[in-house]
Amino acid sequence: IGIAAPELRALGTLNAVALEGGAAAERVFEVVDQIPTVADAPDAQTLGSVKGDISFSDVTFDYPDGTAALKGLSFEIEAGETVAFVGPSGAGKSTIFNLILRLYDIDQGTVTLDGQDLRTLDASALRRASAIVSQDTALFDDTVGANIALGRLGAAAEDIQRAAEAANAHGFISELADQYESDVGEMGRNLSGGQRQRVALARAILRDAPILLLDEATSALDAESEAKVQAALSAFTKDRTTLIIAHRLSTVRAADRIIVLENGKAIESGTHDELMALDGAYKKLVEAQLN
Ligand code: ATP
Repeated sequence: IGIAAPELRALGTLNAVALEGGAAAERVFEVVDQIPTVADAPDAQTLGSVKGDISFSDVTFDYPDGTAALKGLSFEIEAGETVAFVGPSGAGKSTIFNLILRLYDIDQGTVTLDGQDLRTLDASALRRASAIVSQDTALFDDTVGANIALGRLGAAAEDIQRAAEAANAHGFISELADQYESDVGEMGRNLSGGQRQRVALARAILRDAPILLLDEATSALDAESEAKVQAALSAFTKDRTTLIIAHRLSTVRAADRIIVLENGKAIESGTHDELMALDGAYKKLVEAQLN
C-alpha cells in the first residue's frame, strides 16, 4: 500500500481515512497525529462491551475557530435504533458525528455513551466502538480486497466477501477482471463513485462495531442501487446503533426515528409518518425534494 500525504485533499479526508480504517489505518498511514487531539482524562476508562445508547443533553458546541455549530441540542438514541438526522446545510448534522467520535470536546452540556460521559472515556477505545462511512471515501492504491480488509486486519477471505455482500458490492466485484484482487487505482479511480462508496461500506461492516455512522454514505448511488444497498444493510444495522445523515430523504424514510435539525437544535423528532402528520419542517423538506 502506498499513498503520499499530499494526494489526500484535506485534513477532513485524512480523518476519514484514519477513522474508517480505525487502528489499522492509523498504523499503516501514521496519520494519527493529524487527527484533532482531545486530551484524555488521567483516569480515562477503556470501554468494555458497548451497548450503544447515545445521549446528547443540552449540548452547545463552537468549533475552535469560533463557528457556533450546536446550540442546546438534546436527543436520546437507544441501543439498536436507526436514527436519521436531516435538515438544511450547516444545521449541525456532521458535527454530531464529530462529537460522537470525540474529535472535539464540548463546551456545554453532556454527551454520553451507555450513560458514561465521553470525556471520561479513552478516545481511541471510543473510536474503535464506531465505524464511520463518509461522503469523502478514501480508498488506497491496492486491491479491492485489501481496501475492505482495512476494516479488520487479517480478516478471512470469506468474511471480506460477506461484508461485500452486505454492502451490495459483491456483484460488481465479481465482475472485475481479478475480482477481489483487482486494483482500485490511485484514490480508487478505477471504480465509480458508487462502487467506491460500497467498498467503504463493506470496510465499515467488516469492522463490526456496535455503532455505525453513515454520513451521506450512499449519496453517489442512483436511487435504485441505493435501495438495494439499504435492503442489504438492514440485516446488519438491525442490532446496532445506526446514525444516518442523508440529504435524499427517501433514504431515511425507513429509519426508526428521524430528527430534524435547524440551526444547531432539534426541532422535530418522530417516524416519517408522524412527522408528515405534524405538517411542519420535515414535511416542507420532503415537499421541496418532490418539486
Ligand atoms: P451539511 O449538510 O452541509 O453537511 P451539516 O448539517 O452537516 O451541513 P455541520 O457540518 O455540522 O452541518 O456544520 C455546522 C456548522 O459548523 C456550520 O456553520 C459549519 O460551517 C461549521 N463547521 C463545520 N465543520 C467545521 C470545522 N471543522 N471548523 C469550523 N467550523 C465548522
